[in-house]
Amino acid sequence: MADVIQLLPDTIANQIAAGEVIQRPASVVKELLENAVDAGSTTIKLIIKDAGKTLIQVVDNGCGMSETDARMSFERHATSKIRAVEDLFELRTMGFRGEALASIASIAQVELRTRQRKNELGTRILIDGFQLKTQEPCQCIEGTNIAIKNLFFNVPARRNFLKTNTVEMRHIMDEFQRVALAHPDIFFSLQHNGSEVMHLPPTNLRQRIVNVLGQGSNKKLVPVREETDLVKLSGFVGKPDYAKKTRGDQYFFVNNRFIKSSSLNHAVVSAYEDLLPQNTYPLYVIFIDIDPARIDINVHPTKQEIKFDDDKMVYNYLKVSVRHALGQYSVTPTLDFEQEAFLNAAIPQRNNWTPSYNPQHTSGAGSDSTASDVPSSGSSFGSNDDMQRQRNNLKHWETL
Ligand code: ADP
Ligand code: MG
Repeated sequence: MADVIQLLPDTIANQIAAGEVIQRPASVVKELLENAVDAGSTTIKLIIKDAGKTLIQVVDNGCGMSETDARMSFERHATSKIRAVEDLFELRTMGFRGEALASIASIAQVELRTRQRKNELGTRILIDGFQLKTQEPCQCIEGTNIAIKNLFFNVPARRNFLKTNTVEMRHIMDEFQRVALAHPDIFFSLQHNGSEVMHLPPTNLRQRIVNVLGQGSNKKLVPVREETDLVKLSGFVGKPDYAKKTRGDQYFFVNNRFIKSSSLNHAVVSAYEDLLPQNTYPLYVIFIDIDPARIDINVHPTKQEIKFDDDKMVYNYLKVSVRHALGQYSVTPTLDFEQEAFLNAAIPQRNNWTPSYNPQHTSGAGSDSTASDVPSSGSSFGSNDDMQRQRNNLKHWETL
C-alpha cells in the first residue's frame, strides 16, 4: 500500500493548536495581556468591542519588536522567552510556548504595530486568517499595539458556540482582573464599546485588590506573609465573617501566574476550620513564590494548572500560614478594633506604616503596606456592626 502519512500544513496545525489555546475572546485577552507584561510594560490598555467578538486590542509601552521579530512572532513555536529545555526550570515569564500569536493569527484578522525605543520607525503587519497581507514601516508610539478582529471568522462552529456578550464579557473581566491583581505596579485600563470600565493606577497589592474587588473589600482583608527557604507566601485572606455565599474572589498566583488548584483551595478553606459560616466561601488573594525548578507549569496549553514537586509541603505550609494569619486576627479582637481607630487617625501622616501593635505580628503588610493599606475611611468606628464583629471574633477565637 502506498504511504499515506503527510505533514500537516502550518495553517492547519495552527488552527488545531488554536482549538486548545483559544477557546473564547477571553483566551485572546489573557495571551495578549501576558505578552504585554512579559514585554516589561508599565502601562497596558485593553480595548474591547462587542465582548471581544469584533475587536480585542492591547496597547502597551513595553520593549516592542524589531521588524524581523514582528514577522517571526506569528510563526508557531517562535518565542524569545526560552532557548533550551533547561530554561523551563528558570521560567519567570508568563509565555514560553510560542504558540499564542500563531494560533490567534490562524483564526482572526490581526493588525500589529510595534516599535522599539531605539528605532524611529516601527513595523505594521496585517494578517488575515494566517495570510500575510501587509508588512511595512510605520509611525507609531514605542511599544506594541495589537488588534484582533473578527475572532473565529473562519471557524463557524467556534463562533456559534460563543455565549451572549454579557457572559463573554464576564470571562474577559475575569482574565483582566487576574492579570491586574498579579501586577499591581502596572497601570491597566479596560475599555468596552467606547467607555472605560476599569482604570487601575499603579499601586500596592492591597489597594489594587480594593480597586479591583470594590471598596468594601478593604476591611475584609487579613494579611498573610510567611517565608521559608523553599517557598514564600504573601497576600491576603478574607475575614471569616465576610465569607460569601458564592465562589469567586479566590485567587492563587504561583510566581505571579494565576492558577486554579482545588488542592490549594482545600488547604485554605480547611485553615478556617469552623470559623466559616456554613456554605460560604472565603476571599483570598495568595501569592506563592517558589523556585521555578520545583514546579511544572507545562501541564496544559492554557497554563492554569501546575504541578509542585512536593505538593504536600506546599499544601501544609499554606494551611498553617493561613491559620496563623487568621489566628492573629482572631486572638487580638480588641487590638484589631483599636487598629482601625489608630489607622484612621494615622492616615494623613503615615506612608510606610507597618502594624507594630502586635509583637507576634509576622504577617504585616510589609512593603505592600502604605497609607492606602488602611481600612476605608467609611468604616464606622465604634458602630454596632464593629461591636458585633468584635464579639464574633472573640467567639471564633474561643472556638479555635
Ligand atoms: P510566547 O509568549 O509563548 O513567547 P507568543 O506567540 O505569545 O509566544 O509571542 C511570540 C513572541 O512575540 C514572544 O516571545 C515575544 O518575543 C513577541 N511578543 C509578543 N507580544 C509582544 C509584545 N506585546 N511586546 C513585545 N514582544 C512581543
Ligand atoms: Mg505569549
